[in-house]
Amino acid sequence: MRLFFEPESVVVIGAPRKTGPGALNNIEMMLRYGYKGRIYPINPNADAICGIKAFPSVSEAPETADLAVISVGRDRVLPMLRQCADKGIRRAVVITQGFSDADSIGAELQRQIVELAHSTGMRIVGPNTMGVINHYKHFTTAFVDRPFPGKFPPVSLIAQTGFIQVAAREIAYGDWGKAIDTGNTSDVDFVDALNYFNDDPETRIICIHMEGMKRGREFLRAAAAITLKKPVLAIKTGRSRAGARAALSHSGSLVGEDDVFNAAFRRAGIIRVKTLLELRDSIHALLCLEEMKGPRMCVLTVTGAGGIMCADAAEDYGLELSGLPKGLPEKLKQGMPDWIHVGNPIDIWPIGMIGGDYMRVFRETLRELLVADEVDGVMCIFPVSVSALHEDLNLLQAVEEARRQSGSSKPVAIWTYMDNELFREKYERIERVGNFDSIDQAVQGLGIALRATRNRERRAHEPKAFPYDAEKVRSLAGPEGVMAGEKALELLACFGIPVPESRLVSSAVEAVAAGKEIGYPLVLKLAGPAFLHKSEWGGVVPGIRNRRDLEKALRDVEKSVRRKDSRARIDSWLVQEQAEGKEILMGLKLDPQFGHVIACGLGGIYTEVFRDVSREIVPIGRGEAERMLKSLRMYPLLQGARGERPVDIEVLIDILQRLSFMATVLPGIREMDINPVMASAEKCVAVDARIIFE
Ligand code: ADP
Ligand code: MG
Repeated sequence: MRLFFEPESVVVIGAPRKTGPGALNNIEMMLRYGYKGRIYPINPNADAICGIKAFPSVSEAPETADLAVISVGRDRVLPMLRQCADKGIRRAVVITQGFSDADSIGAELQRQIVELAHSTGMRIVGPNTMGVINHYKHFTTAFVDRPFPGKFPPVSLIAQTGFIQVAAREIAYGDWGKAIDTGNTSDVDFVDALNYFNDDPETRIICIHMEGMKRGREFLRAAAAITLKKPVLAIKTGRSRAGARAALSHSGSLVGEDDVFNAAFRRAGIIRVKTLLELRDSIHALLCLEEMKGPRMCVLTVTGAGGIMCADAAEDYGLELSGLPKGLPEKLKQGMPDWIHVGNPIDIWPIGMIGGDYMRVFRETLRELLVADEVDGVMCIFPVSVSALHEDLNLLQAVEEARRQSGSSKPVAIWTYMDNELFREKYERIERVGNFDSIDQAVQGLGIALRATRNRERRAHEPKAFPYDAEKVRSLAGPEGVMAGEKALELLACFGIPVPESRLVSSAVEAVAAGKEIGYPLVLKLAGPAFLHKSEWGGVVPGIRNRRDLEKALRDVEKSVRRKDSRARIDSWLVQEQAEGKEILMGLKLDPQFGHVIACGLGGIYTEVFRDVSREIVPIGRGEAERMLKSLRMYPLLQGARGERPVDIEVLIDILQRLSFMATVLPGIREMDINPVMASAEKCVAVDARIIFE
């Protein structure tokens, strides 16, 4: 990747002779950007371009350049790449459009480009790309003229479009330090770029724009490693198409494409943002605030109303209001009238004004907050003004001194108002201070810093392996498409997932005998491949307390089935031990990018109504299983609401881990539902399951 970002020489194929307005001449742009490497224009119809000697073909260039930049018509791209390969050039940026972005002919051409890359070992960025920017080397492959930025923070961009490079002023905070547009992402992809930025000392923050992706597992591995060092922000578009694909199971329909990306990003420690504005604010926060070690925010404000807004925003962004340092309220109230109240938010205005030394009281309070054990970060609101009448309100020095005297590097998010823009930079020169456009953005900034810190400090939970009867699993998990009922439960049992006692029977006499063996109460169910959704046939009868009930249930189910379809034949029944408790759904779905995704949520008949589901990428460890359960809206029900006994959460955590392990043993599972697991304080059992194999 270094040759893409730091080439010492470049052949430029397809640059026009023309320069100036409308020429879109990328050699002209390189020169204007101040690129100091050697440039070799390739153009049979020109002696020189931009005053640089041109060559009729790549083979005639005097050296093997580090990089080729190609923008000829799509039909000529492949021959040019061959010329480059013959010359020994190992890297190419293909700017030309009209490949898989266009039509089937373009897609075929792109396939041939990839083939050439694989057979020659050449690496290719694009096609359909703006290519690469590296401000540290004054290098650009773009055909858009932008003034070279005066400042560019160490933020690197990987995008599948060029516009985010060009719109750096609007989207980045300042500019990008380095950027790569992977375009159609035919060869060089997110994984390559991430691995480069991982080791790159000029990259502190990574931003990703993603439309789609192929190497999901490798991406997760690369990203998970980086986020332990550097924050990664991602904007993934195409949210609206999520879950459009038809699915055969609950798990299939409850785990849409977008949900999988959410699970994948969370797992890799990537912070997903929804909008470009959020992206910019997040970059801003990470650049200025860097980190926040815990969620406790203290608000220091000159406006009570603004303080309440901070408190509201705290909840939105995963923060809480901190307690106040010991002794601080008493100190602030000293010499004040009785009506002065000190809490968090701290309304500093009346105290400053009555005491007559606003600046000092602000400085001392901020300093105390910065050293206090109770506080992880501070949010400040105060006015800044160019008016001579308000010179006394300027707190720049106070913030500076509080920072210095405290010796602490806790983040300070501020929102200054009246003349905010004029003062922003001055405040941000102070270490770990960010000055934002609004109260919400400032609080959000602390939230982002907290998330980045948590991601960096997160520890992966080792997935557990479980003993299982491999022989039996092999005999059960045949090639059949759909496996349901008793057989599916048997397969679960092989992996130690608890199931109720049950017997498959084919007559009333057998059913009664089974009932006697298992013991009442029982549930009677239709069995056999004809009855996949048993309840819909009237084929599940719970609450059977004795032999008489059982015989009646058999007759009732038969009647119900006949009424629905007079030709339907019942070959077998399942007599099952009755379980009690809450109904929980657990499931698996095979995602083409990321492999198996595990889901759990509210089970039973309202599953699709409430869609209360959490998801993780397989394999999961204990921590992930616990998080899955805790993040459910129904979790308080599992803990026992209104005097109910809590269900055995530990067993649920165990079942989820076993399910995850099962997916690693049986990669052919396409979709799977356990619906429901009946969960109570005494036990949790899977009473019904359906597995769809590839
Ligand atoms: P299906 O999903 O094919 O209709 P299930 O076996 O899931 O059939 O049964 C439907 C419902 O009956 C379950 O959601 C659950 O409420 C209840 N049920 C099924 N088996 C049991 C059992 N062993 N103990 C208690 N309730 C059960
Ligand atoms: Mg069911």
